[in-house]
Amino acid sequence: MKKRGAAVLLAAILLFLPFRATALEIWEAFDPDFLFSETKTENFNTDFTLSGHPAEDLITVALAQSGKTTNQLGYTEAWCADFVNDCAKLAGIDKGVIPWSYSARGSCTYLYDYMLNRCAAEQVTNPKRGDLVFYYCTVCETFRHIGIMQSATLSVEGNYGGRVNAAVTTYNDPRGHSVKSGDVIRLFLRPSYSLPTVVHGDTDGSGVFDEADAAYLLRTLLAPERYPTDHKIDLNGDGEEDVQDALFLLRAALFPEEGAIPAKHLPVFADADAPTCTEAGEIGESHCSFCGQLLSVRRKADPLGHDFVNHVCTRCHEVRPESVGLEMKLNDEKTGYTVCGIGECADADVVIPSVFEGLPVTAISLFAFENVPSMKTLTIPLSVTEVGAGAIFQCSSLTAIYCAAPSLPDGWSPHWAEYTSAEIFWGMDKPPSLNFGEEHF
Ligand SMILES: [Zn+2]
Ligand SMILES: [Zn+2]
Ligand SMILES: [Zn+2]
Repeated sequence: MKKRGAAVLLAAILLFLPFRATALEIWEAFDPDFLFSETKTENFNTDFTLSGHPAEDLITVALAQSGKTTNQLGYTEAWCADFVNDCAKLAGIDKGVIPWSYSARGSCTYLYDYMLNRCAAEQVTNPKRGDLVFYYCTVCETFRHIGIMQSATLSVEGNYGGRVNAAVTTYNDPRGHSVKSGDVIRLFLRPSYSLPTVVHGDTDGSGVFDEADAAYLLRTLLAPERYPTDHKIDLNGDGEEDVQDALFLLRAALFPEEGAIPAKHLPVFADADAPTCTEAGEIGESHCSFCGQLLSVRRKADPLGHDFVNHVCTRCHEVRPESVGLEMKLNDEKTGYTVCGIGECADADVVIPSVFEGLPVTAISLFAFENVPSMKTLTIPLSVTEVGAGAIFQCSSLTAIYCAAPSLPDGWSPHWAEYTSAEIFWGMDKPPSLNFGEEHF
C-alpha cells in the first residue's frame, strides 16, 4: 500500500514537472568519452602552499608537478584533461567551476562543453593566469589538448611530451597538424572562479534549486547510473535514501521560507596542527556539513603573525613593549630618526622606541602628535634629545606623558607640552598602566 502511494505520487510529480532534457544532456548520454577518466592525485607532489585564490592555486598545484612523467603520475590514458581536473581537485576548486568529480571525464571536448554550459565559464580571447587553453584541430575537427595558462602566452600542460611541461603555442597533433601551420587553434575558457557554484538542493546540476530537482532526485533513486548526481541524497537525514528525500526536496523548493535547505555551504574544518603567530602549520580540509561537498583541501599555512593590540598579542599574549607604525623620518645627517606623526600606530599607550631601523630615535618634530584621539599615554625614551614646540597638540584623551629623562633636557622646546593638559612625569621609562613585567624593558 505504501509503495503504491509512493508510485502514484511519483507519477504525479513526473507528470507535472516534465524532465527538462537539454541537447547537452542528450549528447552526454551518448558520448563515448564518458568511459575515459582517471584521477591520480595520490601520485601528485603535494609540497605546495595554497593561497585560497583558485586561479593562483590551480597554477601552483600544476607547477608543483613540473617534469613529472606519465609513469610517475600513473595515468594510463591521454591525460592532459585528467591533469587539469586533478590539479583543480588538489587546489580545492569547486566542482561547479572545474568539474573534477564523477563528471570529470578526461576528455577535452567534454570539459570544454561542460564548463561552457554548466559552469558559467567564459570564452575569452585575451587569456590570463588561471584560464584554460584548449587546442582544437580545425582539420580533424576535434579538441586535441588542454593546458592551464600561467600568463597571456605561457601555459603549463599535462602530457606535453609525456610529462608536465610549460608550453608556448607549440602543439602538434598526432596527424601532424600544428598551431604553427594554423591548423590547430587555441580556444580559451575563463573558469567562473568567483561565482558561488554548488547550489544546495540542485540535484540536477542546472545551477538553480527548484522543483525540477525533486523530479530529478526521483529519477536518480530509480536509475542512479542514468541520472547521476553528486548531491547528497539523504536530505531529510533519516539515514535512508528514498522517496521521502524527494518529497523533502519538493517541500523545500515550494516553501523556501522554511529554510530546510541552507542557502550557503556550512564549512566544517577537520582537525589539524593550526599555525600559530610564529610557527607554520596546517589547515584541515573542510566539508559542507549539509551537502558533504569538499570545500577546501588540507593545506600548509604560513605563520599568522602577531596581532598586537596596545602592545599585547591577542592570540599568544606576547608583549611588544615599544610601539610600531609611528611615522619616522631619517634626519639630514642620517644619524638618527625623528618621530613626525602617529602613522599607523593605534596603541592607547604610545611608547616611542629608542632605536628604529638600527639608528637612535633622537627627536620629535613640531606638531608630531596633533589630534590623536586614540592616544591615552605617551612615553618618550632617553634617546630623544630634541622635542619641537607644540609636539603634543590637542590630543583629547591624553592624560599622562612619561619621560625617561630626569628633567627637561636642554634640547626640548620650552613649549613642547604647552598645548596639552596631560600630566608630565619625569624619570619614568614606561607607562605604569602596562603591566609587562620588568624583563620586557
Ligand atoms: Zn589534426
Ligand atoms: Zn553545501
Ligand atoms: Zn602572537
